[in-house]
Amino acid sequence: MKKTAKIAKETTVDIVCDICETSVVPDAYRALQNDVSEFQDFAVLHASFGYGSSRDGEKVHFDLCEACFETLTEHIEKMKRV
Ligand SMILES: [Zn+2]
Repeated sequence: MKKTAKIAKETTVDIVCDICETSVVPDAYRALQNDVSEFQDFAVLHASFGYGSSRDGEKVHFDLCEACFETLTEHIEKMKRV
């Protein structure tokens, strides 16, 4: 005899840009996949600071769409000291 139970499972249904809040997952992909956690075609900005630094152990994570990533990289280029 099989004993069954309904178990709630958390699923990633979308990934949105942390700046403009638009989806980074194409509609066609979302239509085919119930869980989009494996989708990787977007920019990820990740920083972690060591203990003893001024940000002591802080971790920062941003998911970014291509347009916002372009804007961010242009801003970084402007910040560079020549
Ligand atoms: Zn964006």
